[in-house]
Amino acid sequence: MDSTLTFLGTGTSMGVPTLGCDCAVCTSAISPDGDPRNRRTRPSIRLEYNHRTVLIDTGPDFHAQAIRENIRRVDAVLYTHGHFDHIMGFDDLRPLTFHGVDNLPIYADEITASNLERIFEYTFRKEDRYPTSARVHIHRLDPTPGAGIDIFGACFQRIPVTHGREEITGYRFGHAAYLTDMSDIPEVSIPLLQNLDILILDALRLTPHPSHSHLEKSVAIVEQLKPRRAFFTHMGHDLDHATTNATLPPHIQLAYDGLQLQFEIAPKEAV
Ligand SMILES: [Zn+2]
Ligand SMILES: [Zn+2]
Ligand SMILES: [Zn+2]
Repeated sequence: MDSTLTFLGTGTSMGVPTLGCDCAVCTSAISPDGDPRNRRTRPSIRLEYNHRTVLIDTGPDFHAQAIRENIRRVDAVLYTHGHFDHIMGFDDLRPLTFHGVDNLPIYADEITASNLERIFEYTFRKEDRYPTSARVHIHRLDPTPGAGIDIFGACFQRIPVTHGREEITGYRFGHAAYLTDMSDIPEVSIPLLQNLDILILDALRLTPHPSHSHLEKSVAIVEQLKPRRAFFTHMGHDLDHATTNATLPPHIQLAYDGLQLQFEIAPKEAV
């Protein structure tokens, strides 16, 4: 089954341009003669397959991203973790949940589900619920590494990744994997990331960072896992799109907002 993956956002938590910054990349991001691929909104992706739309994360830029990409319906949302830049668009799902027959299914690990229930308490309270809050149902993910759930005919596997001092959730779906906010890949996840067509990895900046992989480290991870193609995301203003890409081998590229990729999401052989 073919799927189209769209990068809704590819920026780090502060976005690019970084507010108040006049560096070359931030200037290029918004000037008419700059490179629009340097304009990076907060990170998330859309998957389209089987006439369905599935999102991974809804950051604070989700409203603008949904308008830009003409997102008119959403059939499921998976969350990676509970940081601001990945969940704060949750409330913008509201109008998209009013017309479906069932509650919009949300998938998250235990800690992320608990964070969503705490931060958006008015959505989940049993009594005196705010009448126009989102109509959703949270499904808690099996914590077992590689545990899969079927979503509209595609299997989504939970891939644990290290994010500083936390372990968060990456996802593999068919021949692609999305590992945002990642400083290391634990041993247990390595076998789950073989035979990939597309690997999407965090590459925050040029220099090491305690909770995010940097460019050189992400290139080394790609060389270890050997996907056919790799795309970097969650990038800050260190990385100019064109000049950074020119330093990378052809199968590794920086993603940019709006970039679309085609891949197989429900391969016949077991992955
Ligand atoms: Zn993040
Ligand atoms: Zn800057
Ligand atoms: Zn994070």
